[in-house]
Amino acid sequence: MIKDNIKFVKENIKRACEKAGRKTEEVTLIDVSKTKSIEMLKEAYDAGERDFGENYVQELVDKIPQMPEDVRWHMIGHLQTNKVKYIVGKVSLIHSVDTLHLAQAISKESVKRDVTSDILVEINVAGEESKFGTSDMSANLEMIKEISKLPNIVIKGLMTSAPYTEDPETNRDYFKELKAFAYNEAKEYISGTPVLSMGMTGDYVVAVEEGATMVRVGTGIFGERDYSKK
Ligand SMILES: *Cc1c(COP(=O)(O)O)cnc(C)c1O
Repeated sequence: MIKDNIKFVKENIKRACEKAGRKTEEVTLIDVSKTKSIEMLKEAYDAGERDFGENYVQELVDKIPQMPEDVRWHMIGHLQTNKVKYIVGKVSLIHSVDTLHLAQAISKESVKRDVTSDILVEINVAGEESKFGTSDMSANLEMIKEISKLPNIVIKGLMTSAPYTEDPETNRDYFKELKAFAYNEAKEYISGTPVLSMGMTGDYVVAVEEGATMVRVGTGIFGERDYSKK
């Protein structure tokens, strides 16, 4: 079943790429596996998946040794500075850097461990109060500028979680806005072609049409999450 879901999601990504005149290889599917069992992650791994996204530091740290070494782990959830030390050097990308303070902690820990940490800056495009990051783009640019000066940390691009919606079309402009900001104002502080981590189960097709290079799909692959079991 997980295998079929992955196939379905990948076909949708392929179709969205064709529609937008993009190459399918430009888009990485991240299987968001928070709250899901190792058995389920292994099923996705056996179907060929290598990129997994987790939200909670403890869960991430527990899962890493239980999965093959070629898995690329993505930290996508809110990260507290005091937990940075548990994940630096273990994840391939931290998507959720929403303050300079957090970036400083990641930089410091990376220097200490003699590693370089790839990060994305999280932008709250819709300015939702329930979410981290800000929609104030001049404040975001200022933060990006400061982060880019820190040692052992590389800004690969931007991440956003658009509002939950029944109609993904309502998020199209937010995705456009994130891409425009990445390619214009923020471009000189981003290393290489900007990574755009945007699009979840409800809106990843629209996100890919608008330039997403990483989509984070949980429910669409593993089914609904049951938080009562945590
Ligand atoms: C849980 C989560 C996802 C996946 O959400 P689904 O709607 O289940 O696809 C993506 N991104 C972030 C930041 C999340 O916390």
